[in-house]
Amino acid sequence: MHPFSYTKVSDTREAVTAGSRGGRYIAGGTTLVDLMRETVERPKALIDIAGLPLREITVTERGGLSIGALVRMAEAAAHPKVRALYPVVSQALELSASAQLRNMATIGGNIMQRTHCPYFRDVTAACNKRAPGTGCSAREGFNRGHAILGTSAHCVATHASDVAVAFAALEARVSLLGPDGERRLPLADFLLRPGSTPDREQAIQPGELITGVEIPAHPRPLRSGYLKVRDRQSYEFALTSAAIALHVSGGVIRAAKVAAGGVGTVPWKLPAVEQHLVGERPSASLWAAAAARAADGAGPLKHNRFKVELLKRTVERQLRVVGGTK
Ligand code: SF4
Repeated sequence: MHPFSYTKVSDTREAVTAGSRGGRYIAGGTTLVDLMRETVERPKALIDIAGLPLREITVTERGGLSIGALVRMAEAAAHPKVRALYPVVSQALELSASAQLRNMATIGGNIMQRTHCPYFRDVTAACNKRAPGTGCSAREGFNRGHAILGTSAHCVATHASDVAVAFAALEARVSLLGPDGERRLPLADFLLRPGSTPDREQAIQPGELITGVEIPAHPRPLRSGYLKVRDRQSYEFALTSAAIALHVSGGVIRAAKVAAGGVGTVPWKLPAVEQHLVGERPSASLWAAAAARAADGAGPLKHNRFKVELLKRTVERQLRVVGGTK
């Protein structure tokens, strides 16, 4: 491991000041420490933010939910308000990583986690995300787990987070504090598609700190849930996943929020599926017809063509579960 300095901060402003000088924030450390061990990341300075007062979960005035950036994944998953208001968030968290990791990793860190593309973590492989301009080993290599949506000629890596898929479906916003003050960005604008600069993964400025995630209020009643399809039932990333929330009133779907994981370079919102559902009455044929739109625009690679059909089936199955019509 390369030498680095370590500073522990107890105040958000102190953190931002230190971060503006070029240090890397660390909280749970479940991604960054691994990457430092593998020499994928070589920060010169670490700023330990684990002691900052960003560990609250509160219901907002309008009935949404605010989750502090340093809330542990396990805490958020088990929180009664998260379970009651947004089961899709709780389920996505519980299906993530391992119990040990969920006890350490934070919500902010989970959104910021870097890809698990094996070539990214192999410092001998060409990888535009790790070393811009070197190429993409995955494009012509073994790409079974890679993305089919939002890819570019420069990178085809998936975003690994489960809870970010639930946040994307619910149109959550990321709260940031930086040298110029506070701002909020929709998650869809915060996480960047690779384009020609896959090394730039978030719309974050030097020194900016994630302070929390806010889920806006959604009309009630709202049924929601998360389905993750993977090669094994524990400690595995999604091949496909679906986060779905439906507001049904008077027997008609008034609002539908749908996003997919394991298939996009960012958590992938499915507006074509949503549009197909709104204004319709729940039925098995509706779920099938809406899910048929799930892979619109997909560009599969040599080893991951199966994801196109698997994604449609994942969305259809979870629509059945959340929509309550077999
Ligand atoms: Fe690197 Fe992205 Fe290619 Fe993986 S898919 S090797 S992360 S450039």
